Amino acid sequence: MRALVVEDDPDLNRQLVTALEDADYVVDTATDGEEGCFLGETEPYDIVILDLGLPQMDGLTVLEQWRRGDRKMPVIILTARDRWSDKVAGMDAGADDYLAKPFHMEELLARVRAQVRRAAGHAKSEIECGPVRLDTKSGRVTNDGQVVKLTSHEYRLVSYLMHHKGRVVSRTELVEHMYDQDFDRDSNTIEVFVGRLRKKIPANLIRTVRGLGYCLSEEDEG
Ligand code: CA
Repeated sequence: MRALVVEDDPDLNRQLVTALEDADYVVDTATDGEEGCFLGETEPYDIVILDLGLPQMDGLTVLEQWRRGDRKMPVIILTARDRWSDKVAGMDAGADDYLAKPFHMEELLARVRAQVRRAAGHAKSEIECGPVRLDTKSGRVTNDGQVVKLTSHEYRLVSYLMHHKGRVVSRTELVEHMYDQDFDRDSNTIEVFVGRLRKKIPANLIRTVRGLGYCLSEEDEG
């Protein structure tokens, strides 16, 4: 899963990036509204954390511009404490959730997980596919109840496929959601990670759809 953090306070920006990276998200970051706006318009994100008080272009304007351009990614806004009018304006501008500063990082991460799940159509924090279960809260994957040991890349891959189970996901899409903007992306590496994953969970769960990508599903639709 890939996140964008738009926050001009350098300390808070760093804390947000660290917390999200520790939770195995890949994170792009911006410290002003213009840069943040551009990234949100051009790159695909699974979640955006957007501060409202930003230099160059304020967060509300950024959000309005994204929504006008039909960018649908979930956005959590950060507002100043007690500014209820900011929360109302933010939600009306198309925010999906808000957090008032200061906040606990654990709460932010829980809200992020909920938004990512919801955007992919899941209400529960556990996603199942056959014997494989992804606990989005702990970041744990089990197969028949046994914990599957995964590297960060493998986890990002299985997490994205689990969130989008039953749908064909292209290699390009996987690359875009597993790596940040600065990474030297090579979609051939996806094949390598899929190969490794097939050795850790039942191989038939991940179907290769020739020319299109991969589909994780229970049914063998041969
Ligand atoms: Ca600010």
